[in-house]
Amino acid sequence: MGRDESRPSGSELTRVLRERLGSEWLEDAGPEYAVGPARPETLAKPRSLEEVRELVAVCRSLGLALVPWGSGTHQHVGNAPSRLDVVLSTRDLSGIVDHDPADLTVTVRAGTTLAELASMLRPSGQWLPLDPPAPDRVTVGGMIAADLNGGLRFSHGRVRDWVLGLTFVDGVGRVVRGGGRVVKNVAGYDIPKLLVGSYGSLGPVVEATFQVRPLPACDRTFGVSAPSLEDAFRYATDIFDGPCSPLALDVLDAGAAAGLGLGKDPFVVVRLGGETREVEMQRDGMASFLRGLAPLEPAQCAALRDFTLRGPGSWGARFAVSPRELVHVALRAEEEASRFGLPLYLRVHFGTGVGFVRLSAESSKEVEAALGYLRWLRFLCRRFGGFCVYEQLPADCKALVDPWGPLDATLELMRGVKAALDPRRIFNPGRYCGGL
Ligand SMILES: Cc1cc2nc3c(=O)[nH]c(=O)nc-3n(C[C@H](O)[C@H](O)[C@H](O)COP(=O)(O)OP(=O)(O)OC[C@H]3O[C@@H](n4cnc5c(N)ncnc54)[C@H](O)[C@@H]3O)c2cc1C
Repeated sequence: MGRDESRPSGSELTRVLRERLGSEWLEDAGPEYAVGPARPETLAKPRSLEEVRELVAVCRSLGLALVPWGSGTHQHVGNAPSRLDVVLSTRDLSGIVDHDPADLTVTVRAGTTLAELASMLRPSGQWLPLDPPAPDRVTVGGMIAADLNGGLRFSHGRVRDWVLGLTFVDGVGRVVRGGGRVVKNVAGYDIPKLLVGSYGSLGPVVEATFQVRPLPACDRTFGVSAPSLEDAFRYATDIFDGPCSPLALDVLDAGAAAGLGLGKDPFVVVRLGGETREVEMQRDGMASFLRGLAPLEPAQCAALRDFTLRGPGSWGARFAVSPRELVHVALRAEEEASRFGLPLYLRVHFGTGVGFVRLSAESSKEVEAALGYLRWLRFLCRRFGGFCVYEQLPADCKALVDPWGPLDATLELMRGVKAALDPRRIFNPGRYCGGL
């Protein structure tokens, strides 16, 4: 990484930081905090909003680049930051601030993992109906910043639909509070939605308030194999058009099904929730036209949930088109992979327009084919008004293809937001789309 001559470096940087902040919550960063070729020198573990604010203010005055860090599960997405001096770990910023069961709201600190949040809500019979991968590691702040959604978006929408308010520190060192702790709050700029999917490029989220829901009494997942991918989509369409109201409805190609231990054929997964009797009736209704429908084991459900992070293959891309075009795009994506000679693992959230492909490519010939395939897939999605983000790429391939893809007219708008909130570009510089 090229270093600006006017900024302190190495031990000098650590010394200046520690001199200004005291060394109680600063330490040397280990190699596990590297993001691609960018290696930080300092790991900061602030314990309060005030310490986050102080850290940002000092980094700003020294011109040091800072990366917010939950558990690091999604640091691979996007470009590696062009500079990285300090990792701001949210590990010591965790726990519930306030839970009002009667009002169905919870305020939680950013470093809390989703599994911790779920176990804190469970005794009140409530849940946050979002299911990103690896809830044992993914933190609330990371889920917001990386806009992590799972199959539940079919019935419950996305992260941005559940965040009522949040607090973050911007690049000028201001504590910004957006939204509120109540379900209805006054109109104004929607700061929470701006931060969803900002990949740490606008500042560290310190605290967030969510709306929560009553936990379904019964939550069960079933699956059925299909002779072809087209048949799997036909099954999903029948479920979608029928009287059932699934929590989630996913279609897997043969590769993904095999990779997840669900047989060798394309597969449909349907998650049902509600009162036990209601779930049983829905299951019986589906079993009448889907022969072989069977319950999934908890381990299979967990493997499916973690598909984008821990699924088969080491390359991963997320695409989105209008729900109406999804079947067509998925079938073309499958066909084209065999033309490129690549083993493909495909999963789509039926009815939402969102899909994921994972690939295996080791030899230089396979790497070339995988890059060609991903370019083709992005072209196809854009032709249908959608996009394709290459979320998992080998580090040396990020220089050959843009992980984010073109942004057209919105880039100028996003540059304006970045300039207003982080004028010295101290947060995750270069990581986000358009090199923001
Ligand atoms: C500097 C900045 C400015 C922002 N300005 C706004 C704003 O004005 N209004 C607003 O609503 N949100 C804004 N955001 C937030 C972010 O863009 C939203 O998270 C995004 O709009 C959510 O999209 P989605 O939920 O519909 O799509 P999802 O499918 O949930 O995907 C969202 C994520 O995918 C990526 N992505 C989406 N489309 C593309 C694309 N075409 N090319 C590359 N990557 C893509 C982004 O990482 C995005 O966060 C801003 C973020 C930043 C960092």
